[in-house]
Amino acid sequence: MKRFSFFAAVLGLLLAVGCTQQPRTFTNEEITDAWHKGTTLPLDASKQFPPKPVKPKNDNGLNVLVDVSHQCTFAYLWGMPPQLRADGYRAIPSMASLNTVLDEDGVSRMRLQFDEENNVYPFGWVKNYKYNIVLTQQLDRNAPGYTKEECKALEDFVADGGSLYILTNVQSSVDGWSMNDLAAVFGAKYTDKSDRSNGVNYAAIEVDENWEVVAKGENGLPVRARRTYKDGRVIISGYCEEIKFEEINDQASDEEKARKKAINEWRRAVIDESFGWLCENQKDFGEEYRPGQSGWGGGGAIYPELETNLDGFVVYYTPNMDEKLKQAVITEMPRITDQIMAWHPSTPTPEPMYLLLAAGGGGGWAVNAYKPKENGIISTDFEGLIGIYAHELAHTLGGPANAKGEKAGESPFHNQGEAHAGWFQGKIMAMYDSTLLEKGNRNCNELFTSDYLNIDLKRYTNDKAYADSCGHGKDWGKSWIIWQKMDDVYGPTWYPRWRNIQYTRWMETPEKVLTWEETIEDMSIAVGEDLFPFFRALNTSLDRETCGEITFNGETVTLPAARIDAATPPGKVNLSAIGDWSKPLPKK
Ligand SMILES: [Zn+2]
Repeated sequence: MKRFSFFAAVLGLLLAVGCTQQPRTFTNEEITDAWHKGTTLPLDASKQFPPKPVKPKNDNGLNVLVDVSHQCTFAYLWGMPPQLRADGYRAIPSMASLNTVLDEDGVSRMRLQFDEENNVYPFGWVKNYKYNIVLTQQLDRNAPGYTKEECKALEDFVADGGSLYILTNVQSSVDGWSMNDLAAVFGAKYTDKSDRSNGVNYAAIEVDENWEVVAKGENGLPVRARRTYKDGRVIISGYCEEIKFEEINDQASDEEKARKKAINEWRRAVIDESFGWLCENQKDFGEEYRPGQSGWGGGGAIYPELETNLDGFVVYYTPNMDEKLKQAVITEMPRITDQIMAWHPSTPTPEPMYLLLAAGGGGGWAVNAYKPKENGIISTDFEGLIGIYAHELAHTLGGPANAKGEKAGESPFHNQGEAHAGWFQGKIMAMYDSTLLEKGNRNCNELFTSDYLNIDLKRYTNDKAYADSCGHGKDWGKSWIIWQKMDDVYGPTWYPRWRNIQYTRWMETPEKVLTWEETIEDMSIAVGEDLFPFFRALNTSLDRETCGEITFNGETVTLPAARIDAATPPGKVNLSAIGDWSKPLPKK
């Protein structure tokens, strides 16, 4: 959808400049406006602001594409490119489909070096580079597969003189595995058998007569083989880590250091042999094709090519993504955005959040040190994906602003922190999993045990040793118990109302860090009842027993004690719509 508008924009641009070769120049305001709208800047912008070039120390002039679009592990995303650069290669990771990045006339989505001083690296389309070597790897066959277009692109790449290194690990079944569609292009096949070599299990490979088997396991099965194919070369291997060095920690025991050193020695030998052979006929493509690199600790360097842009939330993904995950992005994420905004009416941030769907399962990353901020999600799971989306979205939504249109005061619950993000994540997850409807939000009914109830939230905030003794994140669980009980008694309107009252009450001192007493006063005003006895009954060491007289909007009030019983467990997650947060809550 957005790709069409990008091409339409390029077409419009071509018509506007009458097809001259003169690239358009962009003002700083135009660049800023574009990334604030979630737009990837057109090609001309990357001529003005190219990505930061890769400059290995002993530059050998050879470009290496480290493909992480079929498995995004930190070892390959963050570990492999710098390791190869230390050997002189201009290596960059890519999260985009191989046919997209290898298309001679195509473009890659990358971060442009726009404003180094303020750490702003907006996304832009960059003319594709040429590569000498492509490394592609997949640890887990459930990660996004190799499409027909990608297999064809790799075949053409090798036929035209490129070098390809294919790696995987042992799989319990290879039936219908797309990795073998790729291997078949070159007359090879991964089997579900393994064979041991250098102390690890390799996936055993079957190869036709065009291949030279260069490594066999202890049982004589081929585990690494190589061949020429038209003008290019291919290596296929049954072990992803064979070219990746182990990190050796200074703190490790001598024994551990010696063990890892030995591992790295055989991997050094594999790298020298494999890359030496792959590079034999490779030539420098020159400065024009020197690749740009990624930001530190983030995704890229080449980002996924597809996108959806939902007011303030941009999601990048690849076409090989599982259909159910695609549905999560295209259909469910807009629904989730609307739902959380309905529960917690907020002004979207001027800077959008960029979410990257990375290949495989089991983790993610967040970039806050430079802009645009990005969140990487590595998930193969529908529920996991929507939960993470809801969580990250909630982090950006502060609730109804004050009369100045601002937020004010920092609550010890940490305004848009983990408890808050997890709270709305839990509600969304319950929307998609009916078994969760029987439980408290975030399973907080199961957290209703002495372990959590005894936690003194005030001490947890002010006494690090105490917090450490309770355990990391225990304050979130305690917060969810409290908030669920408030949902039970007051309905879900209290939450956005509380935020608005806080932002209003502290409007003249927006940077103020609130005490627990001040935040519970805010909450009490929101519900129209004194919550001090409730919090004290939940073991919060407040410095007084009741709220007493409080002043809000020039009025001094004394609130009646809250009709909320700390001794009863929390009820069921409340997904109902909120009422008018700007008015006192109706008495039940
Ligand atoms: Zn979070």
